[in-house]
Amino acid sequence: MWGSSWKRSAETTIPCKKCKKPLTVKRSCQHVYMECTHCGDKSDIAAYLREMDDALEAFMEGVYCDRI
Ligand SMILES: [Zn+2]
Repeated sequence: MWGSSWKRSAETTIPCKKCKKPLTVKRSCQHVYMECTHCGDKSDIAAYLREMDDALEAFMEGVYCDRI
């Protein structure tokens, strides 16, 4: 499962700063951001790095690998 296909988005357990529902982490070409599918809020990944959970950590590892 790991290595072959890399997801463009992942659900996290990190609560949205606005509505407290779980955020989804997404990736566009060179940019990673947090998007709330409930209230539509978007934030830079940096705003949530201190609240990183396992899902986000795994996602970010994929991002870093992909850059190299
Ligand atoms: Zn929200």
